[in-house]
Amino acid sequence: MTRGLGISGNSAIGFLLYHLPMSAVPEPQLVLSFEDARHVVEEHAAKLRPTGTEKLDLLQASGRVLAEPIHADRDFPPFPRAARDGYAVRASDLLHLPATLEVIAEIKAGAAPEDLPESVKSGQAVAIMTGAPAPHGTNAVVMVEYTKPKQDYVEISRAVRAGDNIVPAGSEAREGDLLLAAGTRLTEAAIAVAASVGKPYVQVYTRPKVAVLSTGDEVVPIDTQPGPNQIRNSNSYSLAAQIMAAGAEPVLLPIAPDEPNQLSQLIRHGLQYDLLLLAGGVSMGKYDLVEAVMAGLEAGFFFTGAQIQPGRPVVFGRAQNKYFFGLPGNPVSTMVTFDLFVRPMLDALAGATPRKLVFLHARLKTDVKTKTGLKRFLPAILSGEFEGVEVELAGWHGSGDIATTARSNCYILIPPDRDRICAGEWVPVLLR
Ligand code: AMP
Ligand code: MG
Repeated sequence: MTRGLGISGNSAIGFLLYHLPMSAVPEPQLVLSFEDARHVVEEHAAKLRPTGTEKLDLLQASGRVLAEPIHADRDFPPFPRAARDGYAVRASDLLHLPATLEVIAEIKAGAAPEDLPESVKSGQAVAIMTGAPAPHGTNAVVMVEYTKPKQDYVEISRAVRAGDNIVPAGSEAREGDLLLAAGTRLTEAAIAVAASVGKPYVQVYTRPKVAVLSTGDEVVPIDTQPGPNQIRNSNSYSLAAQIMAAGAEPVLLPIAPDEPNQLSQLIRHGLQYDLLLLAGGVSMGKYDLVEAVMAGLEAGFFFTGAQIQPGRPVVFGRAQNKYFFGLPGNPVSTMVTFDLFVRPMLDALAGATPRKLVFLHARLKTDVKTKTGLKRFLPAILSGEFEGVEVELAGWHGSGDIATTARSNCYILIPPDRDRICAGEWVPVLLR
């Protein structure tokens, strides 16, 4: 029997790494609090790197992670840019109001330097449009709202300070500055940056491939008619949808029966991908074989449970140099544990810094009564709008109730020491 104990030196938690024998029962200390379990995943995610890169058309790269840095190809803005429609002036001409200035030219956005007056003198103004270059000699733009044109003159009723409504050349970035580091996710703002420096193609990390392996003798493919004691495989599909939404590529393996040799064979196949997600077979039942089969493959286990509901038997480990999760098979447990634990690994494999799990707060609409002891993540419905957001339980019938979960849009987090939370209290909410 091998039982290697490794404690990571720089870990805040100090996770335990056991090699379980085929018949091993999980050690109680491998059941972690929710926060410790999450931090263990984050520590491992921090060590992961993406596996490859590819060049993509900029728009196809939306949501992907940059594998190259993007630098400013020139100053931003490249010229002192008017930020408002109005009149470019010398601020010192507006000390006494109203002031009347001579309008010597008009400059629209896109104007070339030769369209600009050589230098605007005291007593003069230039009509200017947002996005146009402010002419030499001016140092502010008066908004059109505070002006009244009078033939070749303009009357100005509001003073400005030097610099008002002009974005100085190079104030956002200098030519050569790093605008986006490799590892940046291409949000719409990052796409805008790439577009503005003229990158029709970008080098991004390849999407991680995630193997999905549902287990259970009772589970049948969705295109077959289940027998009276069988159920269709919904977990592979909910997981695939979550994997895709997280920017990774799911690979659905055949359903594994509750039989060690076939399960082992499919697990070994799944471990060839960047990450393996198993669903089912991690509880305490006689035919919950995942941990024992994994132990037979010399797996290390970082945790074999978390003090949460749904999802308490969740497993996280590593075998044959690949990470795997054993997610409980109850369909809501499968979905919740993905949301709570899997995403940092996908972020890291995609080349991005893993995002923290954050909860928003909403006011509880109706009283909640639960059992104490575990941190609960219960399907709930967020309603209202603007600052008046309220939340209430979706009224589920346990961790198999996917229909209620499908009608919900978030989970309410119930702390382990509360058996009753009253309407009107603020509660943490995890959006889905
Ligand atoms: P297990 O975690 O294997 O003990 O399964 C717990 C429950 O989830 C059982 O009622 C299973 O029938 C159900 N279940 C397991 N796998 C799936 C699946 N792939 N799709 C839908 N339900 C499942
Ligand atoms: Mg099972």
